[in-house]
Amino acid sequence: MNKDNAKKGGNKSLISLLGRTAFLVAIMFLIIYIIVVLASSGEYFNEFSERSAYILFDRDIEQVNELAQENYEYIYGIADKLKYADSREKVEEIMASYIGSVYVGDLRFYSQGKAYTSAGTYVEKEFSGNELISALSVSMSAGCTDIYYDELNEVYCIAFFVPVRGSVYVDGVLSIVPVRNIINLDNVLRDNTDALILIDRSGRVFSEACSNKFSSFYTVGNDFYSFINRFVNDAEGVIEVEKSMRLYEKTVCSVNTIGGSYAVVMSPVEAFEGNLILISVSGVEGLVAPELTYVRHVANISIITIIAFVIGSVCAVIYYKKTQMDITDANYTDNVIGCANAEQFRNKAGSSIRGSNQSYAVAIFEVRQFRYIEEKLNEKDLIDLLKHIAKVIESLCDMRETYGYLGNGRFALLLIYASERSLKDRARLVEAVVNKHPILGKSKVRRNFNIGASIVNRSQKHTVHEYLNFADMALEKSKNNINLPYVIYNEKLNTERAHNDIIETEMESALEGNEFRLFLQPKYNVADDRIDSAEALVRWFDPKTGDYRFPGEFIGLFESNGFITKLDHFMYIETLKYLSQAVERGEKVVPISVNVSLVTVSAADFLDFYIENKKKYRIGDNFIIIEFTESFAMGDHQKIREMVDALHANGIRCSLDDFGSGYSSLGVIKNIPFDELKFDRMFLASGMDATHDEAMLRTLFSLAKSLGMRVVQEGVETKEVFDNVVAMGCDVIQGYYYAKAIPVEEYKLFINMNTSIKYKSKVK
Ligand code: C2E
Ligand code: CA
Ligand code: CA
Repeated sequence: MNKDNAKKGGNKSLISLLGRTAFLVAIMFLIIYIIVVLASSGEYFNEFSERSAYILFDRDIEQVNELAQENYEYIYGIADKLKYADSREKVEEIMASYIGSVYVGDLRFYSQGKAYTSAGTYVEKEFSGNELISALSVSMSAGCTDIYYDELNEVYCIAFFVPVRGSVYVDGVLSIVPVRNIINLDNVLRDNTDALILIDRSGRVFSEACSNKFSSFYTVGNDFYSFINRFVNDAEGVIEVEKSMRLYEKTVCSVNTIGGSYAVVMSPVEAFEGNLILISVSGVEGLVAPELTYVRHVANISIITIIAFVIGSVCAVIYYKKTQMDITDANYTDNVIGCANAEQFRNKAGSSIRGSNQSYAVAIFEVRQFRYIEEKLNEKDLIDLLKHIAKVIESLCDMRETYGYLGNGRFALLLIYASERSLKDRARLVEAVVNKHPILGKSKVRRNFNIGASIVNRSQKHTVHEYLNFADMALEKSKNNINLPYVIYNEKLNTERAHNDIIETEMESALEGNEFRLFLQPKYNVADDRIDSAEALVRWFDPKTGDYRFPGEFIGLFESNGFITKLDHFMYIETLKYLSQAVERGEKVVPISVNVSLVTVSAADFLDFYIENKKKYRIGDNFIIIEFTESFAMGDHQKIREMVDALHANGIRCSLDDFGSGYSSLGVIKNIPFDELKFDRMFLASGMDATHDEAMLRTLFSLAKSLGMRVVQEGVETKEVFDNVVAMGCDVIQGYYYAKAIPVEEYKLFINMNTSIKYKSKVK
């Protein structure tokens, strides 16, 4: 069992460790994930939220605009220099120095309304677009023409005119630049862009730049429409691109080609007054590559996090379940004795009963006089004893049986039931083994348990709880009768239980209402042939019926609910009252013995109560005898002896009642100076004619007498038994043969009128 626990513990800590590690990993990854997301969100997510092709395009168009701006500035720079030229030659010289620059293209200057090449050659006829140029030069204000087609050179051009202020030799400077020269798309081409194409609205290509990868597959050519038709191999894609061009606003189309998917981004170029469209063509894969990588990272992290969380959660669930099971185990185990508690017993027994067709009985084994034992033993010894009993029971239970501890010295057992006899044999076996325990062995008690059992009746479908209740009723019955150690539940007991409930509700008011009455049973002194003494016995008067209830109905119950102490005290006081009144009136009195229950004796004020009240009622010495039950003798002999000595010192005699009823207490009669030994009626029950019993009783009588004790035989009912007992040397005889227990008034008559055995009580 311990090994199992250790293994269970090991597994559990491993699971807990795994779970924690997994959670740690998960949390670590989550933190990394958050850091990565936060750190990169600016870079990636802003881009990602827009379409990344747009971003690239926006960057491109900025560059194009910048280039156009640069070109303007370049020409302004030339115009500025021309201001300071102090001759026509100087103008020509400055102009000539710019020839060959990509920015200026065909450079001219105007002097007095006429146009000259940079080398000073007069330009007679403007080539196509001359209207635009003329308009510009006439306006004498800075300006740029639309793109126009130079038929002579077969090139698209833009003309920039910048007036030269403050010069007498030159009016202004004109630069006719092929669009290709201004917009060198090679500079703009980015890693992620495969082609940049500048077209006009009719699809004519002005400028283009392609990545190496792209140019080895595709050539753009002059006509964008024909390029698209060659390039795009899905009809929808072609239609979409053409539609976007007609829309003439920033659009993105995705197209499929044999080389993969491309994003085609179109945007009107404002710097050229909107008559050009810049197109960027980017492989989708290339475009989304960094985002994809990023997404992949995020995905990886997420997957690891999820896995870690799953492992962590699984471990947590297992750990939680195991812990729950442990807690449940702990909840179901009696933490002092370490065996199943009531709840677990009910569960286990319930499933055993449901799980087979076996005949079962539910039994309760209650340690006799447990309250007393509990008080007398120290905690360690008590736990030891209970553990010992649990161990014995466990070793005697087979696989199909189970047991548990209910508390208060009560063990519940589910036993296989074959017959009443076999059940009793089992109980006897448990008892015999339990008796080997040093504490119980020392007390030499033959019967250590009160046992109640209830046979499982499958047709009734009772719960284990109900069976335990039935067994408990049977147990109560066994407690009330020393000669009934094993009682098996039957319907009658149920009525008894109900009866007990009524008694419990009535007992307090019965005590207050004087329903408990003192009866006295005279005892006969053989040597004197007259009354020896009397025993005080309780009767409960029932005003409703006018009858008396006998102690057998309620003493056991009062012992278990503690009310017996109140009753014993009441009976004692009643006895004292009677004696003191009788003495006062000068009536004849003989000693009276009172019964004290173990519960009463165990109370801390026991000695005080009995001694002080004897004084209070001024009762002479030796008129009170206290009858201790034999079970009392199983306690610590030293303490009992001290108690008996204290009573003796205060003129109270002590009697050991019910000798031979269940306890083998030869030791106690040897160790404790009782004044009297009362032999149980049981000795007579086996038949007085058996010579064997007779010999034993005779021996016991002489043993008691040799120890200085008077011998009282209880339950003598017939002349035959009376004669026998007398012949064996009994000193005092109590029994119906001499007298029954009678009310005080009747007792007074008895004591005054008659003392001889020859006289027969009228009340017999
Ligand atoms: P006990 O102390 O052994 O009392 C003797 C019992 O045997 C009495 O029963 C008495 O009526 C009965 N008895 C006497 N002679 C004969 C006989 O010849 N034949 C038979 N069959 N019985 C006889 P009772 O009065 O019913 O009392 C039963 C038990 O109740 C007593 O047994 C005693 O243990 C207990 N008891 C009675 N009164 C008190 C009390 O005030 N305090 C306590 N603690 N127990 C009491
Ligand atoms: Ca008695
Ligand atoms: Ca007795």
